[in-house]
Amino acid sequence: MTEDKKKVVALLSGGLDSQLAVRMMQEQGFDVSAVAIKTPFCDFDCGRGCGFEIRERADDLNVNLKTVYLGDEYIEMLKHPKHGMGAGFNPCVDCRSMMFEAAKKHMDEIGAEFIISGEVLGQRPMSQHAPALRTIEKDTGLLGKIVRPLSAGLLPETDPEKEGLIKREDLGMIRGRTRKAQFEMAKKYGIENPPNAGGGCLLTDPAFGLRTKDLFDHIENPTINDIDLLKIGRHLRLDEETKLVVGRNKDENEMIKAIALPNDILLEARDHMGPVSILRGKNADDHISLASSVTLRYSDAPKDTQNYVRVTKDKKQDEVIAYSAKEESYIKFRI
Ligand code: SF4
Repeated sequence: MTEDKKKVVALLSGGLDSQLAVRMMQEQGFDVSAVAIKTPFCDFDCGRGCGFEIRERADDLNVNLKTVYLGDEYIEMLKHPKHGMGAGFNPCVDCRSMMFEAAKKHMDEIGAEFIISGEVLGQRPMSQHAPALRTIEKDTGLLGKIVRPLSAGLLPETDPEKEGLIKREDLGMIRGRTRKAQFEMAKKYGIENPPNAGGGCLLTDPAFGLRTKDLFDHIENPTINDIDLLKIGRHLRLDEETKLVVGRNKDENEMIKAIALPNDILLEARDHMGPVSILRGKNADDHISLASSVTLRYSDAPKDTQNYVRVTKDKKQDEVIAYSAKEESYIKFRI
């Protein structure tokens, strides 16, 4: 009966490992509640509809799902992550700490005994080696309170083990990046079409990491709007204060228009199909000429004649005439 079951909180990512962790705990008689974390860099809607998917996973697992959004506080952490960045612009240790803090809050709210996650020892270079797991526990005040069921047999004894709530022989001993053991477990638990490893975290993407670094290097307080703009288009850093972003397709053009703020300048070829571009920054007005040429370069406008570009700022429209830019004139600005 549910009311007699001890509660645990699971950090659910939608990936296979966290689903297996939930199943293992359910099998051992726990009532599992899930917490899913949304950040500006993994918003579950990265083109694959994973917001929808994580809810489906929670339903499949028969667990309650609480989604926690880490917005401004996440951006604040990104400015100076205590434990540094990985190979991209990914502050995995600090990020995981924030996730566990959110799970801890939920644990306290619902009176759960401990937290579980699908982390596998040695699976990810930055945040899933033993010292990093320990650091995260210490930073969050959760020492002994986090159980990683897939690898717990290889990790130090946790409080629930000491208290007899779980037994070591019921815990996994999975290590490393190979996923054979997980696929076997998926079969055992009837998890069909297990998802591939690796989530939708944009911060581990090298190209996105460069754009994010550039943003944080040039803007003291980036906004969610600035970050949304990082997710689309070709990016050019024109000066310390100003950027140009050029849409790559119809959807991105629409997004650029939706993201534009009153001080931004939008550009598009007047008479030809092509991108919508956005100039953002203090010196945006000084770059209209180059931005017009670059916008024409990615449009269907003939390259050997001058063409009109429509320039819109704060709902006021103007037109400029320009030649299409030669790649060598702007390639140095590409981020
Ligand atoms: S990969 Fe992204 S979401 Fe995952 S811990 Fe690292 S920064 Fe956080």
